[in-house]
Amino acid sequence: MLLSKQIQRPKLVLVVDDQEINRDVLGVILEDDYEIIYAENGAQALEEIEKNVDRLSIVLLDLMMPVMDGFEVLSRVTSDEQLSHIPVIVLTAEKNAELRALQMGASDFITKPFDVPEVILARVARIIELSEGRQLISAAEHDRLTLLYNRSFFFEYANRLYHYSPDLPMDAVVMNIEQFHTINAVNGREFGDDVLRVIGEEIREFLSEVNGIAGRFEADHFDIYCEQQGDYQALLDRFQKKVNGISPNVSIHLRMGVKPWQEGVEPIVLFDGAWAACSMVRGDYQNPLMIYDEDMRQRELMNQRLLNDLRSAVDKKQLTVYYQPKYDIQCDPPRLASAEALIRWKHPDLGMISPGNFVPLFEGNGLISVVDTFVWRETAGQIARWKEKYGFELSVSVNLSRTELFDPTLVDRLAQLIEANGLNFKDLKLEVTESAYTDKANDLLEVVRDLRQLGFEIEMDDFGSGYSSLNMLSAMPIDVLKMDMKFVRNIESSETDLRLVKLILDIARYLKLRVVAEGVETEGQLKLLKDAGCDLVQGYYFSRPVPPEDFEKLIEREMAIERGSSI
Ligand code: C2E
Ligand code: MG
Ligand code: MG
Repeated sequence: MLLSKQIQRPKLVLVVDDQEINRDVLGVILEDDYEIIYAENGAQALEEIEKNVDRLSIVLLDLMMPVMDGFEVLSRVTSDEQLSHIPVIVLTAEKNAELRALQMGASDFITKPFDVPEVILARVARIIELSEGRQLISAAEHDRLTLLYNRSFFFEYANRLYHYSPDLPMDAVVMNIEQFHTINAVNGREFGDDVLRVIGEEIREFLSEVNGIAGRFEADHFDIYCEQQGDYQALLDRFQKKVNGISPNVSIHLRMGVKPWQEGVEPIVLFDGAWAACSMVRGDYQNPLMIYDEDMRQRELMNQRLLNDLRSAVDKKQLTVYYQPKYDIQCDPPRLASAEALIRWKHPDLGMISPGNFVPLFEGNGLISVVDTFVWRETAGQIARWKEKYGFELSVSVNLSRTELFDPTLVDRLAQLIEANGLNFKDLKLEVTESAYTDKANDLLEVVRDLRQLGFEIEMDDFGSGYSSLNMLSAMPIDVLKMDMKFVRNIESSETDLRLVKLILDIARYLKLRVVAEGVETEGQLKLLKDAGCDLVQGYYFSRPVPPEDFEKLIEREMAIERGSSI
């Protein structure tokens, strides 16, 4: 009997407000479901809380009150071990106050003038429910490592703030760690956790100074919804400085994207923009901050368009392959040795689009395989046709995207292509960008090893643009190094650059790798490279990438020279 009476006893709610009308309104809304006690100021509220500490289910707390204001009450409740289990919903009419209250540990807020009764009832019920399962819930609500919100709570609070204070200028800030998986893989998960924890601490420190909330999701993805800041570079520097202090042996690079507040734009949309801005500076260690602006919006629209247009581009024959020769410069005169196949998109409205504008975009979503498959097939066919037409052995390299290496059918597809066109494996070379080797290295290395075992020659593309250390080279399955063009660009004017090129050539020689210098544009560059012992050169000096019919002229010229020299 006693038990059932206890079960039926309504939960106790304390309503604290200095204005009688507010107390009355809340009383009317809550009285059917709860037992209510009242206080008119902070001091009275504390008395009631202490008196009813074992029974009190929730406090609805006005912030602006005489004698002792709500913030003071809130801070005493949340910092007192005996009281801190009691959830507090703050009642506020002030735009900034709800954020500050959330940061101080309030569970939720209700704005004045009051919402419709159903909303208030639902909110009170929900917070009581949450607090009764507190252990469980706080784990679900917060990320344990950084004590920031998880995704659903973060966006729930962000939305609520937005709907209650749509005029409050709040920016979306996204922060990410470059190559976080590599940091984890090389230094261990514990170290990775330390990095996340330090960033979390600094974000919480920052949010104790300005209004805002923050969350962490997907390992190293931090979202901060904060009042507009004047200088985001300074903010990023602040976090960067903090992570620099973690270990003298590991360099950690942060990047940041910001989408500024815009009237009528919901947080989720703002964060999409901030995320896109943050992705835009991925790998750009010189400029790791991007503020979403009109340029970016245009670029996004363009990207969307290219994504939509790609499928039909293949059918409508808008994609073509250009070929750029590679010359062996240790012969005199230099000899046409091979070529690289490079994609070109002739768009009916946008004109010729360079691969720099769409390859990275399609790499991000897997569509690159549409491009690559097209180029491989086209190139294999072209090699076969040239072989037949000229009886001339000319190998051509194709680019292999990083994402392609994850495709379990890759090795079979390429082998089939060779067979179907009656080629040798040596006829089609594969260029794999250096960054593919540093990313998830082991899995990818296996695939490259398999390809090489079959007989394909592997060229490491853009060597020097990524982070593979020279001593990793010896263990990598490659035949040729393609030295990134940034090394060649200044060798005529910079003694240091020239020395660097010579060093790379020495190491390559030691490892028995041939070297292709990319981006050679002048005779001076060519001569320096030749003297330094570089084997092959690709660049505008010899020819830009050209359509197959123009490339045939290069082949024919080459054959004429050979005939001449053999007479
Ligand atoms: P990459 O593989 O390093 O190709 C060399 C790029 O350097 C080409 O740019 C070429 O036109 C350019 N280049 C060659 N010589 C010179 C020179 O003397 N000076 C300068 N400034 N540039 C020179 P392109 O054709 O715009 O291609 C850019 C990148 O797009 C390629 O870099 C490659 O990473 C990617 N790409 C091109 N075609 C394909 C493809 O079919 N599949 C994939 N996955 N990526 C491709
Ligand atoms: Mg290439
Ligand atoms: Mg390259």
